[in-house]
Amino acid sequence: MSDRPVVTRIAPSPTGMMHIGTARTALFNWLYARHTGGKFLLRIEDTDRERSTAEAVQVIFDGLKWLGLEADETPVFQFARADRHREAVEELLASGAAYKDYMTPEELEAEREAARAAGRVVRSPWRDLSPNDAPDRPFVVRLKAPQDGETIVHDQVKGDVRFQNQNLDDLILLRTDGTPTYNLAVVVDDHDMGVTHVIRGDDHLNNAARQTLIYQGLGWDVPVWAHLPLIHGPDGAKLSKRHGAQAVSEFDAMGYLPEAMRNYLAKLGWGHGDDEIFSDDEAIAWFDIKDVVSAPARLDWDKLNHLNNHYIRQAEPARLAGLVAEIHKSRDWKIREADLPVLEQAIPLVRDGAKTLLDLADATVFVLKQRPLELPEKVQGLLSDETRGRLSRLREKLGAEADWSVATLEQAIRSFAESEGVGIGKFGPALRGVLSGGSPAPDLAGTLVSLGKDESLGRLDDALSPGA
Ligand code: GLU
Repeated sequence: MSDRPVVTRIAPSPTGMMHIGTARTALFNWLYARHTGGKFLLRIEDTDRERSTAEAVQVIFDGLKWLGLEADETPVFQFARADRHREAVEELLASGAAYKDYMTPEELEAEREAARAAGRVVRSPWRDLSPNDAPDRPFVVRLKAPQDGETIVHDQVKGDVRFQNQNLDDLILLRTDGTPTYNLAVVVDDHDMGVTHVIRGDDHLNNAARQTLIYQGLGWDVPVWAHLPLIHGPDGAKLSKRHGAQAVSEFDAMGYLPEAMRNYLAKLGWGHGDDEIFSDDEAIAWFDIKDVVSAPARLDWDKLNHLNNHYIRQAEPARLAGLVAEIHKSRDWKIREADLPVLEQAIPLVRDGAKTLLDLADATVFVLKQRPLELPEKVQGLLSDETRGRLSRLREKLGAEADWSVATLEQAIRSFAESEGVGIGKFGPALRGVLSGGSPAPDLAGTLVSLGKDESLGRLDDALSPGA
């Protein structure tokens, strides 16, 4: 297996949501493929026809796209490959590695009872009967698995996991209606897709033993297995609804950036020393399946928020402006073309405290407001005659300011306060209120720069004009 180029895959079943665990599995497969210069593929396991709607499949495409983990080739759809799965079963029957089991439902039930009583797995008599004795009635096809010895899953994360063959029944490969079973389909698809490394959640570890037997029956190379520990909630319990978001789309809606998610998910079960923050390129250079830890990983919202804040501070303002504009739109703000540069200008001044894009949206509402702003009572209450007079004098000074930068404006406000013989606290809150309409805003100079000179002076004029 080691001389073939690495091919990894994820094989989600469309359920209508993309679980965060699937996202982490996708990331580890993607990282390993990139690390080794191999390929990362996608298979849609859509054999459950009820659930596998076009919308449910689209959720997976959208999730991977948002995460930046798109597959290197067009996706494979499992259901469409049923004929190929049956063909593999024909091969197994021809070589004697599988057999047709004609037990009736009653016979099967009796065998189940007997097996339970004797503490052994179900065995069909058809395993040893000649096909020539076959009756004319429905049958399933079972794998003729070894009954003694052991099957070892050499797992890159769990180590060698041993299964006693006497505890594994002869797996059904085809049902009486001729439909392929799950384990068969997975093996045939992974083989045909050239998958060398099966990296997936450890809820599939038992399947790995069964799938190993199918590979062996078909005389195919067994892939390298790596079963990832589950993701648990912050309290150490299995991740569930009460821990909050579980779907990739929810993390998107809560305002997390995909690069923060990648960094964060990479840390769930893997790490590089004490490094908390790393780029995709670093993760790709460092990632190795062997370094994945086998203990369950715990979701940690504080860490995720910390990372998201880091990536928000790093991101291009123009990109953030586009993302934040979408959030404003979803909150029924009318966003005009001209608002985008305004948002872009404001974002570097307000983003330091933002944990999510929702925070960034809250912090930029003030720039979107249209003149004349409605001033809440609290702000109006600050506008005594004395303060109005002071703000008018400040307005004159600001109007003459040619360099509309944070440093210059900070200086201008300070020297204005001195010339008035008062502290900034005497007029700062009123100025801020007039400029922001009472919405959150950065410090005074930051607010002035975010709005730009014309808009700032316009808002001041509106508030100071007689009758305002
Ligand atoms: N379809 C399976 C799931 O969604 C994954 C199977 C696999 O990775 O082998 O859990």
